[in-house]
Amino acid sequence: MSHIDLKTAPRREDRLGACIAHGGTICEMAGAKGKKSCLQNDGERAFTQGSICLLLPALAMLNTLPDNVVLQHSAVGCGSCTHSQNANVRFGSAARQGRAKDGVWLSTAMNETDVITGGEEKLEQAIIEADRRYQPFSITVVSGCVPGIIGDDIDGVVQRIQPEVKARLLPVHCEGFKTKIWATAYDAVYHGIGRTLLRGGKQEETADGLSPFKGLERLPSTVNLMNVSSMGQVDELELERLLRTLTLDVNVFPVFAHPESMVKATQASLSISTCPTHDDYFLSYLEERFGVPALIQHMPIGIENTGLWLRDVAARFGIEQQAEQIIAQEESELRAALAEFRPLFEGKKVFISAGEFRALATARLLEEIGFTVVGIRSFHHDHFAEVEYRKLAASSREDYVIDIANVQPFEEANLLRRLKPDLFLGHANGNGTAAKLGIPTHVIYHTGLAYIGYKGVYEIARRLHRQLKNPVYNRKLSENVRLPYRDEWYGANPFTYINQGGAA
Ligand code: SF4
Repeated sequence: MSHIDLKTAPRREDRLGACIAHGGTICEMAGAKGKKSCLQNDGERAFTQGSICLLLPALAMLNTLPDNVVLQHSAVGCGSCTHSQNANVRFGSAARQGRAKDGVWLSTAMNETDVITGGEEKLEQAIIEADRRYQPFSITVVSGCVPGIIGDDIDGVVQRIQPEVKARLLPVHCEGFKTKIWATAYDAVYHGIGRTLLRGGKQEETADGLSPFKGLERLPSTVNLMNVSSMGQVDELELERLLRTLTLDVNVFPVFAHPESMVKATQASLSISTCPTHDDYFLSYLEERFGVPALIQHMPIGIENTGLWLRDVAARFGIEQQAEQIIAQEESELRAALAEFRPLFEGKKVFISAGEFRALATARLLEEIGFTVVGIRSFHHDHFAEVEYRKLAASSREDYVIDIANVQPFEEANLLRRLKPDLFLGHANGNGTAAKLGIPTHVIYHTGLAYIGYKGVYEIARRLHRQLKNPVYNRKLSENVRLPYRDEWYGANPFTYINQGGAA
C-alpha cells in the first residue's frame, strides 16, 4: 500500500527520521552513513527562537496553480504568508502565461465559536460559495491547526459536497502542530494531487495488491521536471535548454501547471528531481502506480553537480556520448567566462544557510569558483543528503561546522561572530543576522535570479563579484545597529541548547 492511499501524508520525522537539531562538522556528517538521521541527539532544543509552519511552503505551491482557489480552513492569520508570496505568483504567471495573475485564496477564518461548535458546516458553505463565485477548475481545501485539534473531518466534507459543486476538490492537510519538519508540506500537497488529479488510467487487482494504472499512452521522450517552487522561470528555462539538447521534451510540474494538465505527469518516461528534499514522496508514487521511473539525486547547482545530473538523465536514455559532448562544451565556455571573477573570490570565506540540498549544492558551487566554505546551516537533515556531505568532505581542505537548525538565529549569530566569513548566502528573510554583523549577504534563492545549471554558476559569480567589490553597506550597517545578544552568549558553545539524548 502506498502512503497516498492513506488519508494524510505521514510526518517526515516518522517517514524519514528527519531532524532539526544538530551541531557537527562536515567530516562527521560525511561519516554518518547508515546512522539514524537524528545523529547524536533527540532532535530537540532546550531553547528555541521559532519554527516554520508547513503551511508556508504548501501555500507557496498551491497559490501558483492556475484556475484554482485555495480555501484555507483555519484561523485567518494562518494565511498571512500568502500576502508576501503573491508577488511571486504574479511574476511567475506573467513569465509563463504572459499575464500577471493574483493567487485566489480564501479563508473560513475560524473563530472561538467554531472551536466549540465545529467548523464543518462553515467549510461546506465556503466551498459552495467559492465554486459559485470563481467557477474554478479546482478548489484546494487546506486545513491548519484548528480543524486538526477540534476534529473537523475535511475529507468527509469534501466527499459530501463534491457532487454539489463543479470544481474538483482537493483536501490538503497542513496542521502545523503535527510536524516540525516544514518540508512535510511538499508531501502534503503531492498527496492531495496524487489522490485527486492523477487518476487517469485503470488499476487491476493482482496477487501483490493493485497494479500500476493502465490505459494512458506513454510519451517516450517526455520527462517530468519537478519544481515545487524552488526554481524561478529563468532556472526552469536553463534546465529545459539542457534537456532539449538531449532531444527530450520537458513537462514542468507542479507549480504553475494547470490542474487539468497534471495527469500528463503519469505519461512521462522519466521524472527528474531538481531537489531530493522536495520530491521523493511523489516520485515514488509515480513510479509505483504509473510505472514512471525516477531520478532523485544531485541538485543541478554548480559545475560538477549539473554534469552529474545531466549524465544520470542521459544514461536512462542511452545517450551518454551526447551528454559528454554537451558537458565538455558547456564547462569549457563557463570556465573561461569565470576567469575574470576568480582572483577576487580566491580564499574568501563563506557561510551558507538554506534548505539542506540547496545549501550543500551551493557550497560546492562556491568552492568551484574559489571560495572557502567555513560553515553551513541546513534547515533539517534526512538521509537523502548523505551523499552530498560526502562530496563536500572530499573536496574541502579543512573540516568545518554544520548546524542543523530550522530557524534559531541565535546559533547563527554565535557561529558568524566566531567564523568571521567574508560572505553569507541565505534566504531573503534569513540574511538579517549576518547583515547586521557587517557581513555582505546575497540571496540564495529568488525566483527572478538565475542559480541553476551552467547559466546559474555564471550569474551567481557575476552578482557576487559586483557585490564584493564594495562591501561598505554592511560595514556601515554593523556600525549603526546591534543584535540583541549579550557578550556571554558569543563566548558560549553555539550548540549549548541542543539536547544530547537519544542514540546514533
Ligand atoms: S502552526 Fe497552526 S496556527 Fe500556526 S500558521 Fe501553522 S497551521 Fe496556522
